Amino acid sequence: MIDTGNLDRAGSGTYVGLNCTWWDDNWQLTESDIRFNVTDEDFTYTPGSSTCDDNDCDVLSVMTHETGHTYGMKDKEDDINYYQTMFGTSFPCRSWARNLGRSDVKHLRSKYPE
Ligand SMILES: [Zn+2]
Repeated sequence: MIDTGNLDRAGSGTYVGLNCTWWDDNWQLTESDIRFNVTDEDFTYTPGSSTCDDNDCDVLSVMTHETGHTYGMKDKEDDINYYQTMFGTSFPCRSWARNLGRSDVKHLRSKYPE
């Protein structure tokens, strides 16, 4: 399920988006829910345009990031992964997280080898 709503974070700000994923006893994915925090955040489909406000988060970047969690990827917080989709911070008016970075692809390939 994908929806919009509030995502308050006790005492430390808010989430832009959040993914809750469940697996069965055999680690088979059973459900993945993604919520966009439209209560506290603003979103755009045109992050590179002149109409993008300084606080607008790119819908497709957030969606790609949250979908990465569906596939078992975790947030990356180290500066070396700044431009990776799974970096744990959203950047307003930027769209680079729409496409997986090298580290993101390597992580996915290690989790799902051919
Ligand atoms: Zn994340």
